[in-house]
Amino acid sequence: MIVAKQKGAVKDTMKQEGLEAMPEDEFWREPLDDAKEIKKEGNIHILEFRCKGCGFCIEFCPKKVFIQSEGINERGYHPPEAKNPDDCVFCELCMMVCPDFAIYVEVTKSNEDEINNEGSKNSKKDEK
Ligand code: SF4
Ligand code: SF4
Repeated sequence: MIVAKQKGAVKDTMKQEGLEAMPEDEFWREPLDDAKEIKKEGNIHILEFRCKGCGFCIEFCPKKVFIQSEGINERGYHPPEAKNPDDCVFCELCMMVCPDFAIYVEVTKSNEDEINNEGSKNSKKDEK
């Protein structure tokens, strides 16, 4: 997603400068540290009955995962709705800011241990 935005920005600048764009395959590559990136998959749970509609989760989620839903819960508030769940990076900020413990995220798959183990193996090699 970020790469796509950057690509667009570079293309726009090149156009403004009157430069011809290079074919994408020649110009773009995977980041060199792509294999070291921690990737997680999981689920976002919203306990709608607990929500008091403060909007903190909507405001503070760094990936703008939530919007206010049209629905009304039994307390008379509009709970959030995960509009872009695939953008979630499982930072858990929504869990921390929700004053009513109405949201939690659950990680079902992660490569974090694999990457950390690889890192500690490499640092042991460096010590030798
Ligand atoms: S875990 Fe982080 S990225 Fe995911 S919904 Fe919550 S605040 Fe947003
Ligand atoms: S932070 Fe919690 S209480 Fe506030 S809108 Fe989000 S889910 Fe509802």
